[in-house]
Amino acid sequence: MINAPKGTKDLLPIDSYKWQYVEKTARETAKAFGISEIRTPTFEHTEVFLRGVGEGTDIVNKEMYTFNDKGGRSITLKPEGTAGVARAFIENGMANTALPAKLFYITQCFRYERPQAGRLREFHQFGIEFLGSKEADIDAEAILFAKTFFDKLGVKGLTLYINSIGCKNCRGKYEEALKDYLKSQYDNLCPLCRERFEKNPLRILDCKNEDCKIITANAPRILDYLCDECQTHFDKVQTYLNLSGVEFKINANIVRGLDYYTKTVFEFVSENIGAQGTVCGGGRYDGLIKELGGADEKGVGFAMGIERLLLVLEASGVEIPNENKISLYFAPMGEKEKEKAFSLAYELRLKGIACELDHMSRGIKAQFKYADKLGVKYVAVIGSTELEKGVVKLKNMQNGNEEEVAYANLYQAVKD
Ligand code: ATP
Ligand code: MG
Repeated sequence: MINAPKGTKDLLPIDSYKWQYVEKTARETAKAFGISEIRTPTFEHTEVFLRGVGEGTDIVNKEMYTFNDKGGRSITLKPEGTAGVARAFIENGMANTALPAKLFYITQCFRYERPQAGRLREFHQFGIEFLGSKEADIDAEAILFAKTFFDKLGVKGLTLYINSIGCKNCRGKYEEALKDYLKSQYDNLCPLCRERFEKNPLRILDCKNEDCKIITANAPRILDYLCDECQTHFDKVQTYLNLSGVEFKINANIVRGLDYYTKTVFEFVSENIGAQGTVCGGGRYDGLIKELGGADEKGVGFAMGIERLLLVLEASGVEIPNENKISLYFAPMGEKEKEKAFSLAYELRLKGIACELDHMSRGIKAQFKYADKLGVKYVAVIGSTELEKGVVKLKNMQNGNEEEVAYANLYQAVKD
């Protein structure tokens, strides 16, 4: 037997309806916020991620699926959604359309990581990117959108943390102060953080290692180093969040440690799904489009992991409705009856009724058992008497009522 590769999963019908529901809710919420779908390729030139995610990140350092194609080009399966969207924004001249461009995507992502609960090698992200505005209210809108989506789904127990990591002007001073503070404890940092010390000191604040957490607990806070512009921006984000009643906590340890990430950063975290508790992470990236060769257009966005979202939904006790259920099952009792069932089912299917009929030559008792398994609302029995009279015996499986219904009236009888 050949197994699926480690860290990948088959999505089977017993679960696929949940994904469809989450995706449908995502699309509906996006529509209400004026956000349109964008689909970018599954793979990009590796350089898109080297520049768009950034060297010095875990993703680029060790998680990418990179290979040379037969033409000798270096190709990478997308490890995240933002870089590809930014590349598409530039390549398609979207900066010349009416801005902001408000985009969402639902896509699979690939990262070579150690698989565990909420961490896979192929996983899925729902994300948005608002491109072309530098205003604080659009940061708040991105956050409000995520919150609205979570609320619509009935997710409970998420905490929203926000922070500002400043801009080129204020971050330099902060990084010096941070390194100054960490210097004396350098040897006690984990090996990864020792590497980060020079390349990307901000990321040390984000380390999950317990020793590093203790060391950084009393580190200087970026929020005390913000320049006036960044401080005003951060204040405004909070004003807009308060306006819409979004609860949040300020957490100076939330970071996105790359040069082109600026100002607002945020995460929605769950306490209820184990160690991989960050369901959604995002922020402002005013330098990204330029880094990828575009004009000086600003942006803000987030990405959430759909697998983790489903774990949180389960932990929240949300029963996801199965909208794929068959509503009518035909139970014919012989060959002639089956021919009739076959045509009736087709007629009703054309009218949008989800029907099924016996394809296994089961006896009538077994057919009812099967119909029960399908969870149908109605069973239409066709025996020789019914066939002669041109009717079905329609049983309502929810209340047990039975009635004879002429073929011509069947649609009317089952349509809601
Ligand atoms: P983590 O701290 O879990 O490694 P990250 O900082 O790598 O997260 P992002 O790059 O911000 O994550 O991705 C956004 C979201 O995508 C995460 O919050 C998470 O929900 C999801 N995600 C990231 N990596 C994985 C993975 N390997 N498997 C499943 N979901 C993932
Ligand atoms: Mg990661």
